[in-house]
Amino acid sequence: MGLSHGVTKKSTDKTHLPCKDDFSGAEIFRSSGRNATIATIDVFSRFWGITYLNNIMESLSNRVTSVTPSLTLSVTNQAKALRAAGEEIYGLAGGEPDCDTPDFIKQAAYTALAEGKTKYTPAAGIPELREALSTKLKTQNNVDYDPSQICVTSGAKQACYNAILAVIEEGDEVIIPSPYWVSYPEMVKLAGGVPVMVETKESNKWKITAEEFEDAMSPRTKMIVLNTPGNPTGSVYSREEIEGIVEVASYEDIIILADEIYEHLVYGEEKHVSVASVNEDAYKLTITVNGFSKSHSMTGWRIGYTAAPDTIAKALSTIQGHTSSNATSFAQYGALAALTDEASAPFIDNLRGEYDVRRQFMLARLKAIPNVSVVEPKGAFYFFVNCAGLGLKSVNLCDKLLTRYKVAAVPGVAFGHDMGVRISYCTTLDVLNEGISRFEEFCRSH
Ligand code: PMP
Repeated sequence: MGLSHGVTKKSTDKTHLPCKDDFSGAEIFRSSGRNATIATIDVFSRFWGITYLNNIMESLSNRVTSVTPSLTLSVTNQAKALRAAGEEIYGLAGGEPDCDTPDFIKQAAYTALAEGKTKYTPAAGIPELREALSTKLKTQNNVDYDPSQICVTSGAKQACYNAILAVIEEGDEVIIPSPYWVSYPEMVKLAGGVPVMVETKESNKWKITAEEFEDAMSPRTKMIVLNTPGNPTGSVYSREEIEGIVEVASYEDIIILADEIYEHLVYGEEKHVSVASVNEDAYKLTITVNGFSKSHSMTGWRIGYTAAPDTIAKALSTIQGHTSSNATSFAQYGALAALTDEASAPFIDNLRGEYDVRRQFMLARLKAIPNVSVVEPKGAFYFFVNCAGLGLKSVNLCDKLLTRYKVAAVPGVAFGHDMGVRISYCTTLDVLNEGISRFEEFCRSH
């Protein structure tokens, strides 16, 4: 079922003994060699302290040195530094709801703590939460996953990484529609895979078509990432679009990583369609990723989950068990309340309603700005603004915008598109109003 060799051999075959030319054996040799190297460096370092540091740097893995640090975080840090220096900064770079986690969720976590629910839980999560997720997926998403097919993770980010680790072999290609969420290509590289970015068109609302997907496929293609609603574009795939992509994926059993973390933030007539729900092929090929960060303003709690066909689901739980073990015990009880408490639906409706007001406000303002263009985002809480008409590359643009106009936005290059910027509307209307006025002034002066 498309699993990576590391997962099938290392974790499920207990009787397998390492031999010279297989992955497990190679790993054993490599780690003992490295320990010996570090011991040698340690002896020399007593004489040449600086050499020690240089050698340690050289001993970093190719995987880690090929990974780019998160640009979204560096913008946030730059904006923080300016704020600390007393500047007023209009933050349009945020990636999390600007309200607190609702009290009923906090209360459930306090109670769990008071009751001593502070120990290890099963690696894949507490049974009550997996049960509640199974019900939620059936009733809200129209997909039938048994609790055993669900693995609770430390945020949707870990869920994505587990999914990639479970199926990607060294050199396998993963198709990533661009603009994309920053971490996908880096996760693929960390897993030894090759990210294959496919540029989507603004005229197609930044969505990959089935034909573009098919054209990008090679014999090494193992996975495609579909993020709906999407970050940074806010695009939402329709049932027909998903069916087309599933059809192409099914020719070669390409696994679909369906990241649906923004599922509750969909506006107007648009409806969220879960990839795994569209037909049987989709169900067999999809690893669904979701979480509580955006829907319940729980970014710091770190609770996400995967749901997948049986064989993949087992592998995902195995990876989880050997890396971080369970997601934080009492945070899982908070997530359980987010699913079962009757205050949950009104909280989400309210959040969506509030964000829709901001979205419409920003859409009207952005459309009136010369030399830039936007596609109406139907989901999430971002605008991807095409700034090609300004003739500035995105880092330069965002740097000027921040230092001269005091507006923080994220350069498009972080999402694979160097002539755009991501503007988020998860901040107050006042900040949005001032921020967008300054952005307009900037655009008019270029
Ligand atoms: N997927 C997408 C598309 C995201 O935007 C984010 C958060 N920015 C994540 C996954 C990660 O979510 P979490 O905070 O739950 O790890």
